[in-house]
Amino acid sequence: MNRRGFLQSTGAMALGMALPRQLYARSTLELGGARIDMVSDGHLELPADMMLENMPQDELAEILARYGLSGDQFEPPCNLVLLRDGPRTVLFDIGAGPDFMPSAGHMLQAMDSLGVAPQDITHLVITHAHPDHIWGLLDDFDEVMLPNAEIMMGRAEWDYWMDPDTVESIGAARQSFAVGAQRRLVEVEDHITLFEDGAEVLPGIHAVATPGHTPGHMSFALDAGGQGLLVAGDALVNHHLAFERPDWHSGSDFDLEQGAQTRLRLLDRITADDLTILGFHLPEGGIGRAERLADNRYRFHAGV
Ligand SMILES: [Zn+2]
Repeated sequence: MNRRGFLQSTGAMALGMALPRQLYARSTLELGGARIDMVSDGHLELPADMMLENMPQDELAEILARYGLSGDQFEPPCNLVLLRDGPRTVLFDIGAGPDFMPSAGHMLQAMDSLGVAPQDITHLVITHAHPDHIWGLLDDFDEVMLPNAEIMMGRAEWDYWMDPDTVESIGAARQSFAVGAQRRLVEVEDHITLFEDGAEVLPGIHAVATPGHTPGHMSFALDAGGQGLLVAGDALVNHHLAFERPDWHSGSDFDLEQGAQTRLRLLDRITADDLTILGFHLPEGGIGRAERLADNRYRFHAGV
């Protein structure tokens, strides 16, 4: 290969590498003086059977087929919400970090493409303490990832994961979640501020208790430039079943019935108040809206 050919091919590589930046740029909202970017942490690779086992299988197959899903494995994206509002640079959840799975834990590259470094983050607001949401609290060297951030977390969620009995009670399949959460939360304990349901955790950001996926799961209502937004976390854990049949029991929830009730309540509020959804595992960057199709049936539409 001659020099020109080499330069062209490396140029093409650089272009290919730059493509994710385009995706991040499409996932941006400018609201009043604030700016929101969805920051990709990568994606998960999960066997689907645990989530699907309690659902009516015929109807389930029809819905999955409509969304082009096989029902064997789900590969949901992971989107962190980055809110820059005057002096505050707020991150909602911090991603999986280096130790959960190779396909996730890549948020540093995405933040870098937006010109944001870990030390720039002033506040980290946590929805819940599952690995894909908080294991990034510590980096490759077990150092605190966000040295300057105040970390804010719902009190019920903190109490559950810090309870010494949780490792025993959570069940074998999730025991590593409990051990991993405790190890990381202990390291950042001095930076943590706990809050309750309904609290204004930061100006214009209110906590909305959405338990079920985990015992103390929190979503957050934001009012930015007159537009209502909802950081949903995993209260709406995918764009297909969680919207089409929010009343079905999802095996990814800690409390199956509470998870379903929370989804129904949340989707009712989202459509009644015309809220923009910022979803951790929702597609195309995770920003979208819900359409009400019928009683207890909704559809997710990506885009602002
Ligand atoms: Zn998750």
